[in-house]
Amino acid sequence: MKTIKITYILSFLLFISFTIQGFSQIKKDKKAIKYAKTIKAEEIKEKLYVYASDEFEGRGTPSKGQELAIKFLENHYVSNNISPLQKDNYFQVVPPPKRFEKLWGKSDIKPKNVIAYIEGDEHPDEYIIITAHLDHVGMEDGEIFNGADDDGSGTIAILEIAEAFKEASNKGHGPNRSIVFLHVTAEEMGLIGSRYYTDENPLVPLENTVANLNIDMIGRTDPERPKRNREYIYIIGSDKISQELHDINEEANNLYLNIDLDYIFNADDDPNRFYYRSDHYNFAKNGIPVIFYFSGTHEDYHQPTDTVEKIQYDLLELRARLIFHTAWELANRDDRIKID
Ligand SMILES: [Zn+2]
Repeated sequence: MKTIKITYILSFLLFISFTIQGFSQIKKDKKAIKYAKTIKAEEIKEKLYVYASDEFEGRGTPSKGQELAIKFLENHYVSNNISPLQKDNYFQVVPPPKRFEKLWGKSDIKPKNVIAYIEGDEHPDEYIIITAHLDHVGMEDGEIFNGADDDGSGTIAILEIAEAFKEASNKGHGPNRSIVFLHVTAEEMGLIGSRYYTDENPLVPLENTVANLNIDMIGRTDPERPKRNREYIYIIGSDKISQELHDINEEANNLYLNIDLDYIFNADDDPNRFYYRSDHYNFAKNGIPVIFYFSGTHEDYHQPTDTVEKIQYDLLELRARLIFHTAWELANRDDRIKID
């Protein structure tokens, strides 16, 4: 009698948990695993040591150092045979907003977003946009702010993710939807490059933009985080516009990575307001589902000491692979994710 009761209760609980969570959306995909593995800590490290080197002078807006950074991104896409989203080139010149006209209007260096893409096989007119900001805060009193974590980490993660998708595509494995790699400028001056893209000159229609995955600082661990396990990432905004996006990211993590997805900064009343503080916000305010991937601030945040040797490359690899898996699912699943 007792056993029967327990069995009954257990199956009832199982039924309830399925009903609450919805049935699993993702099936394990061996191809996804194969290409995710091409994202490697050593390759990330090699690229980041260039991107956050003194030669790039902290990638301030506008500056020669940022021009070098832009050239570096262009070279990556050219050498991997990944096309620009526009016909002729990878660049979207971003004009200065009024308050910065004096500072950068006179410079002959024109700040630019850098935009590459891989066309989808089945739904080429539906786009997943992956973003990171290419700029940092530049130099002050002769000191260089290298911005290895902010946002060298997100920038190089995109390059590796793009390479993985390209390799898959070369072998005839999708993506079914198009994937856009958008490196935005002037984030540090107030999300200017991403705002120009979404509000002034979106290169693909916003209504055909399925989701935006934004990566800003994923190379370190947060010293203030009460839980001390290393393998975590903060997830912000994932459930605000599309529960399906949130679920896909969770299931991709459960299936492939199993790192700790920490939602502490996703609370609506979070005093840090991180949801409003990086480039995904310009997509979210236009009704596009977003996820902001972030590993937290630290004592070197916006200091000349945010340097490459402090990056934890094994964690950066894991986090980049999670983003790849989520993007893979968004791009290859049968139906476009729904907005709530
Ligand atoms: Zn940043």
